[in-house]
Amino acid sequence: MSENIMTACEEDMRLINGFSRRELSADEVYVFPLVLCDNEIDRDCERFSVKTLETLAELFVGKTGIFDHDAKGKNQTARIFTAEVVTDSSRMTRAGEPYTCISAKAYIMRTDSNSDLIKEIEGGIKKEVSVSCSIKRRICSICGNDKNKSTCSHAKGSYYSGKLCSDILTDAADAYEWSFVAVPAQPNAGITKSLGAASENEQISQLKRDIDLREAEISKAKRELTASITRLGQFCVPAYDPQTIGEICSKMSISELLAFKKRTQKLAKPERPVSVLSTAYSDNETKERRAKSPFALGKKTN
Ligand SMILES: [Zn+2]
Repeated sequence: MSENIMTACEEDMRLINGFSRRELSADEVYVFPLVLCDNEIDRDCERFSVKTLETLAELFVGKTGIFDHDAKGKNQTARIFTAEVVTDSSRMTRAGEPYTCISAKAYIMRTDSNSDLIKEIEGGIKKEVSVSCSIKRRICSICGNDKNKSTCSHAKGSYYSGKLCSDILTDAADAYEWSFVAVPAQPNAGITKSLGAASENEQISQLKRDIDLREAEISKAKRELTASITRLGQFCVPAYDPQTIGEICSKMSISELLAFKKRTQKLAKPERPVSVLSTAYSDNETKERRAKSPFALGKKTN
């Protein structure tokens, strides 16, 4: 990597001085190039769209870099001062697109406290970069569905008609930070994606939708069980009161309702009228309650 290290040119210094509090000279700063992220399918089977990379390239300009995602101020020493999207048409991604990445330049101050870091960058030790950004949409590469809003039948990492399904990260909302990491998360730029506020909100919304859906399914199952219990109840209890049965059912869990239904089915014979209320209890309790029940007919229980 050391052969790629650039000395700050006039244009660099113009851009850098756009961010600094005072006019800096070229020998005060150390400039280095870095690849922030690309459009290759990563190990999470996700990839940035080229349009998203273009937005991110703009958003990352001016953002400070930290080391190993340690957000302490003392480590926020490097800043990106320029970034552009670069395409290598001779290289194709696994999705069959020309390889495209965000190529950026950052600077750090040549201070005593940064000298070790500069040596590590020059030596290629700190060459992996990860980015943290917020992405609004996750598009299914097979059908175009926005997975943050609804589900589709395609699973990322699976093949459909020979095509690898991946989530296309689309619509960058914000770029937060970038950092050097000791262990690369990905083979190329070493990207890890930390999802920001917009995506988190989307994820929470999706979870809420899933919970609502599940609750609706449970309610439906409860309604159906209650209906069949009240229907069967008329064969168990002479003084049959569907409203009371319904009220009792409304306080039961699915498994209690299932047990209740099972017992009610067993008892639902006109010749054996026993209290349906007892069926939610254990066998011994049931026998006791049946014996006490005004509807019970002697000991003819089994
Ligand atoms: Zn799909």
